[in-house]
This record gives sequence, structure tokens and C-alpha cells, in this order.
Amino acid sequence: MDGLAQTSRGVLGSAILLLIVGVIVVWSLDDAAPTKPDAPPSMTAVSSSRSADGDDAIRVALTRRSVSSIRLRIDGSYRLVPLDGREGPVAVPEPLSDRSLEVDPRGIDIAGRRFGGSGVEVVPDSSPAVWIDGRKYRGSVRLHLTSEGGMRAVNVVPLEEYVAAVVDAEMPGHFPTAAREAQAIVARGYAVSCRRQPPHEWFDLYSTPVSQNYLGVIYEGREGRLLAGETAGGRAAAASTESLVCTFDGELFRTYYSACCGGRTFAGDVVFDDGTGSLPSVACGGCDDAPLFRWERSIASDAALERLSELARARMPAFRSIASAKTIGGVSVPAVVAISDGRRTVRLPAVEVRSAIGLPSLCFQLTGDGRRIDVAGRGHGHGVGLCQWGAKGLAERGLSCREILQHYYPGCELTLLSASTAR
Ligand SMILES: [Zn+2]
Repeated sequence: MDGLAQTSRGVLGSAILLLIVGVIVVWSLDDAAPTKPDAPPSMTAVSSSRSADGDDAIRVALTRRSVSSIRLRIDGSYRLVPLDGREGPVAVPEPLSDRSLEVDPRGIDIAGRRFGGSGVEVVPDSSPAVWIDGRKYRGSVRLHLTSEGGMRAVNVVPLEEYVAAVVDAEMPGHFPTAAREAQAIVARGYAVSCRRQPPHEWFDLYSTPVSQNYLGVIYEGREGRLLAGETAGGRAAAASTESLVCTFDGELFRTYYSACCGGRTFAGDVVFDDGTGSLPSVACGGCDDAPLFRWERSIASDAALERLSELARARMPAFRSIASAKTIGGVSVPAVVAISDGRRTVRLPAVEVRSAIGLPSLCFQLTGDGRRIDVAGRGHGHGVGLCQWGAKGLAERGLSCREILQHYYPGCELTLLSASTAR
């Protein structure tokens, strides 16, 4: 999002006539407040899709892509386990002080041993003990050597310990207990869902909001200050909901959630194309006091035009003007920006426009006069599933964790993961 200010000035410049009009998103804020559901939770077990790592582990990528170096520190004794299994583990009795670990074509050196091949897993004798790039993690850390000559760090952590840290990374500690318990349940279900369809053979999730935010146990903040990545409150939210996930008819589904829906959530299938069609649009009724419930932006047209034209030109070479825009109807459909050259019209989905010009959400209206683009919108995030600020509001009105979840995922049940069922 910061990239807008760094972009060179418009390719199309002021010659382009900007008339982005009529991008309308309809919100229905008058829907009735949620009523308390009466249905008891289901205690039918659902497969936890236990990974080959056992211990119901989750594998979290700590580096977004292959890197040439990381900082590594290990508190206490540990074992180094080659990932290709051709050699046995190496026991190291002393801790490892904070150091930069470089990878070269022959592999990586740790504690005087070189590890080539697939890489190595750092398994501490007591957890948490492994620090990667200033963050301390529970469980072990795998350093996979990549075909690009770099490495990727992957934290292998028990599911419940991961969930506790995600609660604290994703939701402020002062939010009500019921909201944080709901956060724990959706984070757990999201993680297990991703484990069933992992984005990479080495890991199930990213440690960033690309998947779910995960800061480990302790992390270095600005100026090197150490901050808590997880708290007793996060651990309590995980423990009080241990093994619970949301299901529809006994089937786990991907429990998408976002910071603030802006008054009404989007249906899953209008934002994602991964089978989330069962997530309906619902009136929120709880996020009115969120910082980005309503927002406005004013953007220099040339900068925004450059980005929008990059999107549009893929479909419309040499278009000369942005002449109109429209939306498709419905209260639960993200805005569609339409750009015309006077003969043809290109419609750009809100998800692309949001990314191109750095908007907080998919729920917005654009107007422009060729010099500025004014954007008015609501919400923060993709707007599908549980609204985190809405969960706070509903909890403050007395709704329970289960009632909050059944509000955002109507018809869902709370189901215990089965640790005994294989993937
Ligand atoms: Zn909301």
C-alpha cells in the first residue's frame, strides 16, 4: 500500500480523462440485530487431518520466500536433525548465541557442522527456545534448502500452541473473552483447513496476514524492544476452546475472517474461488465503533491511473480514457470498477483495484475529476466470515462465543477435532 507514493508519475498523465463514476456498493445496515441461537454445540468428532509430523503439528513458513541468510539463536541444548534422513541427529549441549546464518552452495553451517542436501531441523531439548530473525518460537524450526540456492525457515509447532499465539497476534488483548474465544476457534479451523490443502509441500501456512498473523512467543519490536507475541489470555482462549472447530453438516470449512466488515459481510464466493460459497453475507451489527468502519481516501489521479491502467491494459491495449464505472447489484457483492476507452469497457474486480491503489477493503465508491480520485469506503479486510470488531461488539452485548460464530457462519456447529483420525 505504501507503494503508491513511490510510483513514478503517470504513464498516461493528465491526457487521460478520468470519469470514474457510479461505483456503488449497497450496504444494508438496517437488518435486525442477531438473535441468540438455541442450538447446542455438536460434539461429533471431525478429522484433525494430523500431519505426518505427528503431535498434531502445524507447519508455519517464517520466511515469505527463499532467503540467503537468517538470524538464528537457540536457548539451551538442542539437536540438529538432517532433513533428508541420510545421517543421524547431532546433539549439541550448549546454546547458540544470536548469529547470522548464511547459506552457500554447499549448505549451511551450524555449531561447526555443515548441512547440505535438504537442510536441517533445529529441535530444542526444551521449548520455546529457537529464535529466528528476532522472534522466539515454540516447537522446532526446519531450515529447508531451496532449489534457488537459498533457504526457507518453517516452524513446526503443536496446533494448540500455534492457536494461542494467533489469538494474540490477530485480536487485541482488551477484546472480550467471548470474542477472543471465537477468534481461537476460527484460527484453529482455518489452520486445519489449510493443512488439508497446503500452499507448499514444506508448510501449511504463512506467518503473516497472507494466512494468519503469528508472532511466536516473543518478538523484537521497533528499536529492538522485546514484546510479547503471546499472552496468558491468548493461551486461555485456546485452552477453553481446545480442539473446537466450526463445521457445516460435520464437515470442516475454511473459517475466513477479517478485521471489520463495514456493516455487512460479503458472501464467500464473491471474494474467494476456493469453495467458500457456503459462507453467506450477513448483517454484522457489531463493528460500528471500528476505526475503519467508514473511511475516505483522496488519491492523486496520475499515481492511481498508472496502476489502474496497468491492470486494464492487460485487457485493453492503448486505451485512452477511463470513462465510466459501474457496479453489479446486490448487497453482498464487492464493487466493480469499469474503465472505458469510449468503445470498449473493462471491468476490474474490487480485489484488483484494492490491491492496485492500496485501499483498506473491497467495499468502496470511487469518484474522480482527472486530478484526484476520491474514495469512500467501509470496513477493513476482505469482509468474508467473522468480523473481528463485530465479534467484539456482539460479545459486549452478551453474546457467547458460540452465538457469535453462529451469527457469522449461520448454521455452523462447534465440533471437536478428532486426534485419532488420520488425514
Ligand atoms: Zn462487522
